[in-house]
Amino acid sequence: MRRPMVEFGCAKCYGGDAQAVWRGQREGFEHETDVVDGSRFAVDVRRCRGCSQQFVWIFTESVDWMGGDDSRHVTVMPLTAAEATGLATGTLRPLDLGALGRDRRHLNHDWPTGGPASLHWNSGPFRVAGAG
Ligand SMILES: [Zn+2]
Repeated sequence: MRRPMVEFGCAKCYGGDAQAVWRGQREGFEHETDVVDGSRFAVDVRRCRGCSQQFVWIFTESVDWMGGDDSRHVTVMPLTAAEATGLATGTLRPLDLGALGRDRRHLNHDWPTGGPASLHWNSGPFRVAGAG
């Protein structure tokens, strides 16, 4: 069963220009809830100051098996109010977030060691690497 794409956010927090959305992250969002607070895996919920849309931030740092260096990945994905509440109360597990990508765009910021960061919108389910 396919659900229709859900409408999220405003032009500032969910517009098509990934660079503009990424640049707006620092000032455009209000931190709301720490779900996982780790140095290598962190998940928190933020809210757009413009339209109050809630987003989950998923930060993953992985060790490069070649050189032992770290690479960093951030995924920013909008949440429904029910999903944000579920994350805060523990009924929605962080590792289940990847499945939510099936019906909405999410912003990926990948920062490999020694290389330039890349930034792009993705859609479809993704793997939450915090599982280890
Ligand atoms: Zn917004």
